[in-house]
Amino acid sequence: MQILVLIKQVPEMEKVQFDAEKGRIDRKSAGVEVNPFDLNALEAAVKIREKLGGSVTALTMGPKRAESALKEAAARGADRVFLLTDKNFAGADTISTSAVLSAAARKLGDFDLIIAGEMSVDGDTAQVGPQTAQFLEINHAAYVSEITSVSENEITVNTSLWEANYSKTFNYPLLLTVTKDLNSPRLPSFKDKMKARKIEVEKLDYEAVKNQLQVKEVGFKGSPTWVENIVVPQKIERETKVYNKNETEKAIADLKEILAAKNLMEA
Ligand SMILES: Cc1cc2nc3c(=O)[nH]c(=O)nc-3n(C[C@H](O)[C@H](O)[C@H](O)COP(=O)(O)OP(=O)(O)OC[C@H]3O[C@@H](n4cnc5c(N)ncnc54)[C@H](O)[C@@H]3O)c2cc1C
Repeated sequence: MQILVLIKQVPEMEKVQFDAEKGRIDRKSAGVEVNPFDLNALEAAVKIREKLGGSVTALTMGPKRAESALKEAAARGADRVFLLTDKNFAGADTISTSAVLSAAARKLGDFDLIIAGEMSVDGDTAQVGPQTAQFLEINHAAYVSEITSVSENEITVNTSLWEANYSKTFNYPLLLTVTKDLNSPRLPSFKDKMKARKIEVEKLDYEAVKNQLQVKEVGFKGSPTWVENIVVPQKIERETKVYNKNETEKAIADLKEILAAKNLMEA
């Protein structure tokens, strides 16, 4: 089974700051990590390889620093790792990202299965997986929360999107986007990490996809989306007052007073 996993490097969202003036994430304010859902995607791929044999390839499009995400993917079981990086790819929206990822997938081989995260924690659009399947003209199942059976010929998955759940069996080639309920990603051992340090991150630039995509179809030029305006929501400071157990009456009286002052209840 030849499996491709799409990996995105994202800022650590709980630490990252927003530059309100420039209207964008201040990427220097936090470290980077592999998009958490992509670890579930990788874990699923490695489990399938352990069962059926074959290989797991990890692919990311990003700047040079995204190599560390690929090294982590290798520590967690990817056999080969590829970085798509080129100045022509800069400024890509989700369509142009998906176009380049699908062109690279075609170039790298005949994958039976492509697995992506359900969404990224920074961009959050959940568009790249389905769009990549669309560019490759293959089926996809989004929000997969369980793989109930898998063989060399077919795979059965359950998907969960709010209350819209279904179970379906697919033949390959197929693209899945997966949720965090699918599995618990393994932690790489020290030995795995040491081995991954030595793995070669294979680079792909525009040359690798130029037979499939013109310069005007990639990066900023190939991106029909533009950002009109970004507004950072104002932080609302909340006042907290803590009462002791024996101050219930006072707490109720104070609350009534506050609500009455705001005309939310009669005094
Ligand atoms: C006008 C515009 C300009 C932009 N310019 C830039 C820019 O200059 N630099 C920049 O970093 N971003 C830029 N972005 C953001 C970039 O388009 C998105 O980060 C990217 O398309 C992924 O979208 P997402 O984060 O919503 O991923 P989602 O669709 O939510 O991700 C779903 C899954 O797709 C896969 N995936 C997503 N992105 C990648 C990737 N790059 N490589 C491999 N797999 C991936 C992962 O498996 C992920 O879990 C720009 C966006 C817009 C609209």
